Amino acid sequence: MYNKKDFMAELERKNPSEPEFIQAVSEVLDSVIDVVNNDPEYLDAKILERITEPDRIFMFKVEWEDDNGELQVNKGYRVQFNNSIGPYKGGLRFHPSVTLGTLKFLGFEQIFKNSLTTLPMGGGKGGSDFNPKGKSDSEILRFCRSFMTELQKYIGPDTDVPAGDIGVGSREIGYLYGQYKRLRVENTGVLTGKGRNWGGSLIRPEATGYGTMYFADRVVKEHNDTFEGKRISISGFGNVAWGACIKASQLGAKVVTISGPDGYILDEEGVSTQEKWDYMLELRASNNDVVKPYAEEFGAKFFPGEKPWGEKVDMAFPCAFQNELGLEDAKKLVASGVKYVIETSNMGCSTDAVNYFIENKIPFGPGKAANAGGVAVSGLEMSQNAMKLSWSSEEVDEKLKGIMSDIHEACVSEGTEPDGYINYVKGANIAGFKKVADAMLDLGY
Ligand code: GLU
Repeated sequence: MYNKKDFMAELERKNPSEPEFIQAVSEVLDSVIDVVNNDPEYLDAKILERITEPDRIFMFKVEWEDDNGELQVNKGYRVQFNNSIGPYKGGLRFHPSVTLGTLKFLGFEQIFKNSLTTLPMGGGKGGSDFNPKGKSDSEILRFCRSFMTELQKYIGPDTDVPAGDIGVGSREIGYLYGQYKRLRVENTGVLTGKGRNWGGSLIRPEATGYGTMYFADRVVKEHNDTFEGKRISISGFGNVAWGACIKASQLGAKVVTISGPDGYILDEEGVSTQEKWDYMLELRASNNDVVKPYAEEFGAKFFPGEKPWGEKVDMAFPCAFQNELGLEDAKKLVASGVKYVIETSNMGCSTDAVNYFIENKIPFGPGKAANAGGVAVSGLEMSQNAMKLSWSSEEVDEKLKGIMSDIHEACVSEGTEPDGYINYVKGANIAGFKKVADAMLDLGY
């Protein structure tokens, strides 16, 4: 029998100074510990010890030259966490805050997220502490080349398939794939998020944002409510927030905020026109990491240094960074009458914020369910690459919608509590966990 306190103490001893990884495991454990303790097979197989230890981790040096001819050195990583149900799959994050602990938390979350997508993908994550902010295009290119020169030793279309994450978009995937192809002389589905002319899937850039809104629409309907007319706050202004703004508008809701590290924008008219969506892409492409110019461009309000969680809305969607929404933010949202919170960033809410929403019976969609649309379409890109085919936008979008609906059903079936409250956190964790744990039993150790 597992006791959470003892298990976590041992995990912390083995993984010192990795608070995000500890947080991610602790949250999953809260949901699955009873399931494990009630199953002698899981107990005998030491499932918890095994699922919390990555299969292997690669750490490497990335040397590159900046525009001044000065040599720079960064850390590169790939965490291959669990491949019980398919090849390792998960993005690459380029951000100065990246540490091994960050990537272990993201890789761990990815195991369950990928399991929820219904597609055969294991969990992995990688990246670097490289800071893309203010870097020129040729610096990005040189960094990506050097990064892939090392990474290509450890990945392959049937082994480990990286993709984008924060700081890694279609441009970076292009440079990374170019170097992989140069070194390996092969055109395969080794990365996803590729350009549409060279093996990428349609809808992949939109997938995470679209997916979270399809999921949210199912949550709202499950509560006999309508998505149309909802007032929404979103954080972030990157690829995920962009797709979310588009789909929310198409489904008849109004997104009134976006944000960046510099503050948030309040746009009472809604981030709801093609011009505004295109402008978000321009802001992102500028590599300056600021959202303020949006206010000047569209006559919206800008609140420097603040987060959007003080705005009165029906639904809130953290779409930026881990732990971006804390307990105080959760209290503000609940006090102002928020009806649903859909976490779209990976572990976007602190544990006490999540618990506060649940205590207040606010339907709360966890990131590993709500943001799974991105990796789901990556899985569909892998299928298309393997078949040497490409599907139309409509086909991919239909499949994405179906997957998000299946994820929602899995959460409802594993997470509905005796009083009828749907605990989506519990539902997602249990559904994602069982499939991987059962595969581990089938495969032996
Ligand atoms: N980085 C994304 C995630 O957090 C996408 C991963 C992928 O497409 O492999 O799920």
